[in-house]
Amino acid sequence: MKRRPVNSSRTPVYRDAGFELYDADTTKGAFAGETENERIPDLYIYSRYRNPTVVDAEEEIMKLEACNWALLTQSGMSAIDTAVSVFQNGESTGPWLFFSEIYGGTISYIESVLKKRRGVKVYSFNPVNERYDPAEFERIMDDIRPEVIYVEVISNPMLIITDLENVIKIAGIYGSKVIVDNTFATPVLCKPLKAGAHIVVHSATKYFSGHGNITAGVLCGNDRAIMKSAIEYRKFVGHMISPDDAYRLNTQLQTFDLRFRKQCSNAERLVDIVKDHPSIRKVWYPGLKGHATHDEAVRLFGGRGFGAMVTIDFDGGSDNERKISRDNFIAAVSEKIKIIPSLGDPKTILMPVESVWGAKYPEPGMIRVSVGFEEYAELEKTVMEALDKIK
Ligand code: PLP
Repeated sequence: MKRRPVNSSRTPVYRDAGFELYDADTTKGAFAGETENERIPDLYIYSRYRNPTVVDAEEEIMKLEACNWALLTQSGMSAIDTAVSVFQNGESTGPWLFFSEIYGGTISYIESVLKKRRGVKVYSFNPVNERYDPAEFERIMDDIRPEVIYVEVISNPMLIITDLENVIKIAGIYGSKVIVDNTFATPVLCKPLKAGAHIVVHSATKYFSGHGNITAGVLCGNDRAIMKSAIEYRKFVGHMISPDDAYRLNTQLQTFDLRFRKQCSNAERLVDIVKDHPSIRKVWYPGLKGHATHDEAVRLFGGRGFGAMVTIDFDGGSDNERKISRDNFIAAVSEKIKIIPSLGDPKTILMPVESVWGAKYPEPGMIRVSVGFEEYAELEKTVMEALDKIK
């Protein structure tokens, strides 16, 4: 059947599981070409390999991270799995170094998959007084000489900023590959590939999709050999995102820059009014001069903002009183600000830190706030009324 081209300005959702290959010779050529693992194949074969709707969304992310390739996956964790697996090389895999303050799910993946199942030698680099010490980093690098370094730009929930340029510089001396999780900072604040990182990963579930309604991940880079290996791994393991999710993500990416800038500005304004409130013991925000890595944030983010995550500790005469203040605040804002175990949503959401991390972060009154892009005046009213109530 001859079809008329449709005068649409968008790539539609191609839900084909397998694409039409016309005849035996074309089929043979398509499968032979597939072994090249190109980003855009001459002919699409099967949606687990590559899909045009997915490629379209990937190209939007390439513009954001200013890079040569991006590969979408069905979650942030599958992007992380793909990124690290590119550098795994059977028995001859060398040691890997992970900065310790990274997403809890990544830590569980290291323990349960990398160490227990795959036998990778993994080392951890810890901060001292909520800052990664550069001299200690040089010492551990010289000691371990890792093949792979894995780091987050902004950590969670203490919001430690990594001195990324220094990390990449030292990594270069030892020929280590650097993987950066840029989920919290986003390319609005920092583009790690420009600084020389080898792979950037995102949980696109967060700011990229930005509406709390898509689970997705992406890995990005410039090196073609890394890209080909990642395409092959994604294909064989089956980490590919669905075309429907890729289409919705692409739509939501159109407003990413606007949304994230508004989230950063709401966070900065909110921090400014709550930081000295008598109900609050301490606020962690990289934009605050007293934050342990404020200088790193100023250098790395160059005045573009400080992110939209804020960690707050409530005051009280004892641990129990601090927990009560926390719970009273959560109850007072609960109509407008919900406990939701994610971040980057349109509306401000929060997580009680002790309920998630236990005693790892010993302040009992802590909450982690993901500031949304709602109207600022409304957000300020909700928070200030709740704070005044619990005073
Ligand atoms: N990286 C960071 C920094 C995260 O916060 C998360 C999830 O919270 C992930 C990766 C994993 O992403 P996903 O939940 O989309 O698999």
